[in-house]
Formats: sequence, C-alpha cells, structure tokens
Amino acid sequence: MSSQAFFPQPVYAPTNATVPRVLLAPPKYVQGPGVLAQSGRYCSMLGYARVGILASARGHSAEAGQVFAALKAADIDSVAVVFGGECSKQEIDGAVAALTEQQAEQKAEQQIDALLAVGGGKCVDAGKCVAYRLGVPIVIIHTLASNDAPCSAVAVLYTPDGVVNGAEFFPHNPALVVVDTKVVANASERYLVAGMGDAMATWFEAKVCLDNPQARNVVGSRPTLAACAIGEACAATLFADGEAAALAVREKRVDDALERVVEANTLLSGIGFESGGLAAAHGLAEGYTALPEVEHNFLHGEMVGMGVLTQLALQGDTGQARKVSEFFARIGLPIHLGQLGLSANDEDALGRVAQGAMGFAPIHNLPFTVTAEKVYQAILEADALGQAVAADVGDSTYQRVQASA
Ligand SMILES: [Zn+2]
Repeated sequence: MSSQAFFPQPVYAPTNATVPRVLLAPPKYVQGPGVLAQSGRYCSMLGYARVGILASARGHSAEAGQVFAALKAADIDSVAVVFGGECSKQEIDGAVAALTEQQAEQKAEQQIDALLAVGGGKCVDAGKCVAYRLGVPIVIIHTLASNDAPCSAVAVLYTPDGVVNGAEFFPHNPALVVVDTKVVANASERYLVAGMGDAMATWFEAKVCLDNPQARNVVGSRPTLAACAIGEACAATLFADGEAAALAVREKRVDDALERVVEANTLLSGIGFESGGLAAAHGLAEGYTALPEVEHNFLHGEMVGMGVLTQLALQGDTGQARKVSEFFARIGLPIHLGQLGLSANDEDALGRVAQGAMGFAPIHNLPFTVTAEKVYQAILEADALGQAVAADVGDSTYQRVQASA
C-alpha cells in the first residue's frame, strides 16, 4: 500500500541550474482489431496470476467481460470492482477499500499482481490512482480513443460533480496499454473526434515548450526531441487521416486510417503531452470545466480543441488557427462558443473560463506574460474565427457528430 503522494519534479529537476531532458512512455503498447481477446496472453507474459478488473457496471457486462474470459483462458484469476463514473477521491477510496477488503480474505499467494482498468479516460485515470495505492502495476485497456490519458503516469482528479480538482503523479507509466480498434470502431464517432481535438493540442503545446528554454514538461523537465517529433507526427496524422478515420467509425469498420488516428489519439498524444509539455490549450479545457453546463455536456477533447484555437489566438498565429479551425469543422468538433452553448456576451462565464485557465500552471510555458484579460480576448478572437469558418462550411457535421453519443 502506498499513501505517499509522488511528485516528479523533485526527482527529475530538483534545481533550476541544470534541468535534464526526460522522456516517459509505457513500456508496452498493443493496438489492433480483436486484441482484447489476447489480453490474457499479455498478462501471462507480464507474470500476473491474479488481477483486479476496474470497469463501469456497463463495462463489466461488455468489454471487461471479454477481458475476464480472456484471462480465464490464460489461467489468470480476476476480481471485479465497479467504477462509478467519476475520477474523484471518493471513488478511488471506495475502489481501494473494496479491493483491500476482498484481498484481506485471501492468502498471500492469492493477492492481486496488477490492476486492469477497462474503460474510457476517467476509468483509466481512477485505475492508476487505485493501483498506486495498492502498490501494484496498472494495465490500461482503453475502450475509446477519446483522450490522451492511457499512456501517461498522471491522472486528472475531479470533484464528484465533475470539476477538475488537481492531478496525481505516479513513478511508473502503465505497464501495458491495450487498444482494440474493433471496439473503437463500434463506439460512437463523437469519441474518436473528441480524441482528435485532444491529440491536435499535443504538437501546438509541445512546440511552445520546445521553443521556450524556460518551459517545462509535465514532470518539470525539458522536453526531448523525441517527444516533440512524436507530437509533430501526431498532428500530421490527424490532418492526413482524420476525416477518413471518422468515416470508418461511422461505418463501423477498421481500416489503416482508423489505426493511424487511434495511435495518434492514444500513443502519440499520450507521450507527446506528458514528455513534450503542455501550454494554454489544456489550460482552457480546465477553465471550461468550471462551467457545469459545459462540463456535463462536452468531452475533454472537445474542450481541448476549443483550447487549441484560443492558444493559437493568444500566439497571434492566424494562419494555423484558420487551418485547425477548418479541420475541426470538417470532422465535427466545436469551433465557436455557440457550439458549446455559450456566447461572446457571457462575460461572467467567459471570465470564469479565463480565470480557470490562469490557474493551470503550464499556461505560463508560453514565451510571454499571460493574463486573464489576454486569455479572455483570445477566447473572443477564436470565437470570431470559428463563427466565420462555420458560416463558410455550415455546422451539419458538428450536429451529426454531437448526436452520435
Ligand atoms: Zn488531454
């Protein structure tokens, strides 16, 4: 059991004198159609004889049920724990208590060797927190390609009401990340599209950190060229294959475009954000969670996508802003405030978003002084651009994607 919070910066960058370059990544990543059925083999390879499975009640009767069967076929025992839907301290404590109680009745040789989290972003983040407290490795079986959570050694915590409530860091990345693209193809288009909003932020935020010698990545160190190259490949993949991948999900089939975009959304974005570094796009996403009407109705990647457009406005990069806004419109991400149920006249709400973004430390990786006023103005500029793009291309794609989940 580990009750000690882990902080990476005192390990990797204890002084400001010499800040090393640090790359973090999961040691193993497996992606493909049908790989869920092989999860028993992967766990055998890692030497696990008994594991916990954290999944929602729905997940236990769906994907986690398939994992359970695959483990059984590989002679691996498992014990189920239900995830209630929010990555909150309350839920994490509840899952730890349930597993601890269950384990107390078992002999030493029947203790779990690892925890498997089977589900979306909040489930996998909760799984990281639970596994750390239990002192066992975490295996992530991601059922949506909707965000950059699976590969990192960090979890975002929320209040029970869904407002961002800090982050937790871990000394290890997940021991294994598994993404079954057949499962992704059968999920709604909106999840894949949201994942592209999250993944598009990777390069624009990593580039800020690469170019600014004062900037630090998520663990407080300088980014490596490798992490930035991964971030750049991520953006290039989305522009090249994003629309085709969304079409594949609409038609519930796996093709190369979908494989490439799932990898961009999960592996490239995951390594890219953690080791490349963050900036304003994720700060804006955090700011939007302060508005319950946005937090409850929109996905992390949709808020990050809006954040990318605001960051580019802050940077004054109108060329990239238009290119990204047009791409987002083509795949159906929100590009203006109206699509988030807000308007440029909502001074109070937008002020809270700007203040929330200012509370996100990596926003200061930008190479100039960032103020709430500048963020507020950038939100309005991005909105005006989004309105213009939507007027050109219409918003039927956005409406269809929103209706898909
Ligand atoms: Zn993200």
